[in-house]
Amino acid sequence: MTKPTQSCVFCRIAQKEVPSEILLENDLALVFADIHPSAPVHYLVVPKEHIETVSHLTRSHAPIAGELILLAKEAAHQLGLSGYKLVFNVGRAGGQIVDHIHLHLLGGWKQVDSN
Ligand code: AMP
Ligand code: ZN
Repeated sequence: MTKPTQSCVFCRIAQKEVPSEILLENDLALVFADIHPSAPVHYLVVPKEHIETVSHLTRSHAPIAGELILLAKEAAHQLGLSGYKLVFNVGRAGGQIVDHIHLHLLGGWKQVDSN
């Protein structure tokens, strides 16, 4: 569902109307720092297209869905994380507050040998 709106904070960040600390960006998605980090390192990987939740994804979104994971991996590498968590909160019952799909990149607790 493409519905970039003035009311969606992540659409506004993608459009550079709301400031954010952007780490990586390409045509499909961007990675920026979470404003209220839940881990020593906490970034969000967000598609530029407004898609509400994982449950709104269709097969046609496969390139975007894949891009989120690949960008998360690249961000983790750039941040020097040897291990990390990637989390989608889905729907209110899953802890999702911002209704624009985003992949949490969480890490920085400790550094151990990389895989
Ligand atoms: P969720 O609970 O999965 O919807 O997570 C939403 C995340 O977005 C939370 O971790 C918030 O701290 C983060 N967040 C909300 N507004 C902003 C913003 N303007 N810039 C960066 N992160 C934000
Ligand atoms: Zn949006």
